[in-house]
Amino acid sequence: MPDAWYPCVGRSRQGPGLERLIVQITTDEMRPVQEEPTYETATDRGCVCGAVRYEVTHKPTRVYACHCTDCQRVTTSAFSIGVSVPGEAFRVTGKELQPVPGGITEGGRAKTRWVCPDCGIWICGGVKVGTEPPDYTRHVRGGTLDDTSWLRPTLHFFARSKQPWVILPEDATVYEAAPPRA
Ligand SMILES: [Zn+2]
Ligand SMILES: [Zn+2]
Repeated sequence: MPDAWYPCVGRSRQGPGLERLIVQITTDEMRPVQEEPTYETATDRGCVCGAVRYEVTHKPTRVYACHCTDCQRVTTSAFSIGVSVPGEAFRVTGKELQPVPGGITEGGRAKTRWVCPDCGIWICGGVKVGTEPPDYTRHVRGGTLDDTSWLRPTLHFFARSKQPWVILPEDATVYEAAPPRA
């Protein structure tokens, strides 16, 4: 695979109005040796119910894990995984995302989570999709990708609140709190 990055590909699997896209993104570092997933092997999902699908047309600029208490609460897990891409490279198909509260930053700013209106799955944060200012970075929730096998966070945020049993890789870039703004 000479160029490991390839944009999303998709096909329609259901009736009109519910286009189903298979999102496949990868990079050289993240999946060094693996056959490309095919339509037959890729898991078909975006949100859980399938009403929201999205496409990403640029390779991720970073993959990170956030161990903040908001992410722990929202995911009901130990951390969330974020995939950062240029704002214009992320577009939603199917139903429009709905904004819901996502907690408060240390600076006092209210965070927004954008979720599927039907099943409530968290797709991304930030400004409304389609209203990104220039040079905007979109943080997509990694678990909603069709193929998550290549996700390996190299940055860890809010390590101060990580669960004690989470052992970070020695080569990881670790921030005790929020990272510098990307
Ligand atoms: Zn849904
Ligand atoms: Zn977080």
